[in-house]
Amino acid sequence: MKEYKASVCVIAAGPSGLSAAVQAAQLGSDVIVLEKAAAVGGAANMGMGPLGIGTKYQKAQMIDITVEKAFNMFMDYTHYNVDGRLIKRYFTQSAETIEWLEDMGVEFEGAYRYFPQSEATWHIVKTDKGIGPRAASFMNRALYETALELGVKFLLSHPAKEIVKKDGKVCGVKATDEKGEEVYVACDAAIICTGGAGANKDMIKKYTGLEFRKDVYNFAVPGVMGDGLNMAWNAGADQTQVRIEMAADIGGGDETTGGVTNIMKQPNLLVNYDGKRIMNEDYMQNSTYLSNVANHQKEKTCFSIVDSSIVKYYIKHGVDVTSMVTPDPDVSDFYEGISILKKNGSTYYFIADTIEELADMTGINKENLLETIDNYNYFCDSRDEEFFKDPKYLRPIFKAPFYAAAVHPGGYGTVGGIRINENCEALDKDYTKVDGLYAAGADACNIYDDSYMFLLPGNSMGFAVNSGRIAAKSASKYVKEVR
Ligand SMILES: Cc1cc2nc3c(=O)[nH]c(=O)nc-3n(C[C@H](O)[C@H](O)[C@H](O)COP(=O)(O)OP(=O)(O)OC[C@H]3O[C@@H](n4cnc5c(N)ncnc54)[C@H](O)[C@@H]3O)c2cc1C
Repeated sequence: MKEYKASVCVIAAGPSGLSAAVQAAQLGSDVIVLEKAAAVGGAANMGMGPLGIGTKYQKAQMIDITVEKAFNMFMDYTHYNVDGRLIKRYFTQSAETIEWLEDMGVEFEGAYRYFPQSEATWHIVKTDKGIGPRAASFMNRALYETALELGVKFLLSHPAKEIVKKDGKVCGVKATDEKGEEVYVACDAAIICTGGAGANKDMIKKYTGLEFRKDVYNFAVPGVMGDGLNMAWNAGADQTQVRIEMAADIGGGDETTGGVTNIMKQPNLLVNYDGKRIMNEDYMQNSTYLSNVANHQKEKTCFSIVDSSIVKYYIKHGVDVTSMVTPDPDVSDFYEGISILKKNGSTYYFIADTIEELADMTGINKENLLETIDNYNYFCDSRDEEFFKDPKYLRPIFKAPFYAAAVHPGGYGTVGGIRINENCEALDKDYTKVDGLYAAGADACNIYDDSYMFLLPGNSMGFAVNSGRIAAKSASKYVKEVR
């Protein structure tokens, strides 16, 4: 068995693990990182950037968001059903973390909102190709390169398997190498950062009750199987609730063009199987809200509906609402996307010549759908008496063909599971520290109560980076004490 020695062993190299590794090394710890995949960055390679509050970007952009305001918003939103001390520490550190990342060469485009009602807390990473998905991979690369410069040793394709304890204290981590042979890292402290259980259908079913691709269409990042949760629980850490970090799925991931998905997520008509409206569609861009709405419907399904006059309007003028993920209002590839869906026989998108036919295809109650559309079209000429929708988004549904897309609960994976305190120290059932054990990122992200707080976007990567740093500070202090 190959053996290694470090003062701190960081388990996984997503943004929380990379941040923990850099921070611990900066504080003088010798660090080994065990990473299951052959590359670093985890889910954050697909994302765009972390949250920051009170940053120089916000000040320069005259954005009024302070730690006090964000903290109060957050605690109101979660009904104080979370660890306020951890939130306070995370938010307070977040502006300095943006500068800490900049010191490593990370550049930011600025501070952005995700959708109109959100705050501009999302610090989107600058790339060599402009703003777009995967921007945060540039942040991960800078963290990785800094860690290497600081002497951190990375063991890639080395999944951690077990936390080893002696006299109640962490003393090592068992892992396997790329050939499946056992490896042992002797250490004083271990920081678990394995990103939750988003790809583990059985754990999702067991801990959330949701069934993958039946009730919930989450991202399932390969390799994120709940290993860290099981390792922490087996080492004595208490279990907290494991939740899906909800973000709605439109169209079941069927292959199509950006124009189709962009149009179907615009604030038009949203109905359930009963043919009834279920929300003020202005809020559809908050994908957590949309996911919650879908989660409450029969078969956890609702339908976004447009007609061809809306499609034509969007193709000519651009869509109503853009976001930093889909910044381009141009949807001229809509018909191309529809052809792809027809060719592949999509079961999530529907095209019909009449409303009656659309009801038959989708299974929506026909009579109610006809009545809902009648009422909705009347609201378009007057005001939305049902859900008070902004008149600028009210467009009648009258001209064939009609298009519908199924909307389901979705998510970015799981959050939560390992109980930690504000120092990211793992706690047992008595809320006593498990000596030498720390957790960060999605594995320990118990901060959302029942819904992801999208009003402060960048929150989950922000928590990952900041909790990784906090865990590393605590672990480095502990290592100095025990040595
Ligand atoms: C498409 C997409 C876009 C997103 N965009 C944003 C965004 O812009 N802003 C934002 O705030 N959040 C965003 N998120 C969420 C954000 O990426 C995650 O919250 C964040 O990556 C979590 O970081 P983490 O370090 O906890 O875990 P992850 O990034 O999931 O990394 C976990 C790592 O653990 C490794 N691992 C698993 N098991 C083991 C093991 N046994 N041993 C060793 N290693 C192991 C995995 O290989 C992986 O590298 C996005 C998520 C997705 C899916």
